[in-house]
Amino acid sequence: MSINSVQAIDAKALRQSSKRILVTGGAGFLGSHLCDRLLAQGHEVICVDNFYSSTKENIKHLLDNPSFELIRHDVTFPLYLEVNEIYNMACPASPVHYQHDPVQTTKTSVHGAINMLGLAKRTGAKILQASTSEVYGDPVVHPQVESYWGNVNPIGPRSCYDEGKRCAETLFFDYHRQHGVQTKVVRIFNTYGPRMHPNDGRVVSNFIVQALLGEAITLYGDGTQTRSFCYVDDLVEAIIRTMNTNDDFIGPVNIGNPSEFTMVELAQMIQQKVDSSSELVYRPLPVNDPTQRKPDISLAKEALDWEPANDLNAGLTKTINYFRERITNEQLNNAT
Ligand code: NAD
Ligand code: UDP
Repeated sequence: MSINSVQAIDAKALRQSSKRILVTGGAGFLGSHLCDRLLAQGHEVICVDNFYSSTKENIKHLLDNPSFELIRHDVTFPLYLEVNEIYNMACPASPVHYQHDPVQTTKTSVHGAINMLGLAKRTGAKILQASTSEVYGDPVVHPQVESYWGNVNPIGPRSCYDEGKRCAETLFFDYHRQHGVQTKVVRIFNTYGPRMHPNDGRVVSNFIVQALLGEAITLYGDGTQTRSFCYVDDLVEAIIRTMNTNDDFIGPVNIGNPSEFTMVELAQMIQQKVDSSSELVYRPLPVNDPTQRKPDISLAKEALDWEPANDLNAGLTKTINYFRERITNEQLNNAT
C-alpha cells in the first residue's frame, strides 16, 4: 500500500471518529482548556459563551481554526444546533462572580441545564454536566464520597451557586430516567492553572498575584480551612474520560486532587515559590465558607482509570509562570 493511500485511510478514520462537540462556557478558564484538548483530538468544537465571567482572551488563539466556532449566547435561552456531544460548563465559578448577580447564577444553572438537556434530547447527543464539590456544602463527611448528600444552606450568599448546581444535577438524573438522555455528572473540586482570571477572587489566583506584586497575602478567617487543588490539565483529562466511558456510567463522580492543604500552607508555599516578601494578613471569613474539602476519588480511579498527574508544587510552578508573564506584559503595555 502506498504512503498516500495510508494517509487517506488515516484521514478517513479521523473524520469518522471526529465529533461535533458543544462546549458551553467554552471561553472560561476550564472551558477554554477543554476546547484546546478536543480540537487537538481532531473534533469540531462549537464554543457558546455570553462572556459573563470571561473575555475572548482565553480563546483568541482558536478564532482562526476552521474546526472552531464561537457563538455569543446566554444558555438561559434556548439554543438550536446539531451536535454529538455537549459539555455544559457555563456558570460563573468564583464566589465573587457568582454572588455578583445571584439570580442570574441560579438561572444559568437551572434554565441553562433545561435548555442544554432539551438540546441533547432532540439531537440524541451525550451531555456532561460540570457540577461541583459545593453540592456537599460545608461537609460533615470527610473526605467527601459521592454517596454523601451534603450540608448546604439553602438561603445564604453561596446558595445561588450550590443549590443551582444541585438542581441541575436533579435535572440531569431526571432527563436520564424520564427521557433516556445519555447524561454524565462530574463533581469538580477546586481547580487552578493558567487562564484563571487574575481578579476573580479565587484563592490560588489571589495569592499568586498578591505575591508577585509584593502585596499582602489575604487569608480569610484564621486560614485553617482546607481545600484540595487539582491542576487544570488533570481535570480536563478526567472529564473527557468521563464523557467517553460507556453509557451505563452516569456518575456523579468526584474529580479533584485528594491532597489537602490549609490556606495558611498554600499561602506559605506560594510565598516561598515566588520568593516574595509579602506579609500574611487576616481578613474576615466569608459567610458559609466551608471548613474542609477533600475528594474521595476511588470511583474516578476505578471507573475512569484516572488520578491526578500533577501535584500542587508542579501545578503552582506552571501557574506562577503564567501569571508572572501576564503581569509583566500588562505592566509593559501600561507603560507604553
Ligand atoms: P469561569 O467563570 O472561568 O467560566 C465559566 C464560563 O461560563 C465563562 O466563560 C462565562 O462567561 C460563561 N457563562 C456564565 N454564564 C453563562 C450563560 N448564562 N450563558 C453562557 N455562558 C455563560 O469558571 P470555570 O472555573 O472555568 O468553571 C467552569 C465550570 O466548572 C462551571 O460550571 C463551574 O461551576 C464548574 N466548576 C469549576 C470549578 C473550579 O475550581 N474552577 C470547581 C467546581 C466546578
Ligand atoms: N480565601 C482566602 N483568601 C483569599 C481568597 C480566598 O483565604 O484571598 C479562602 C476562602 O475563604 C476559602 C478558600 O480560600 O476558604 C478557597 O476560596 P475560593 O474562593 O478559591 O474557592 P471556594 O471557597 O469556592 O472553595
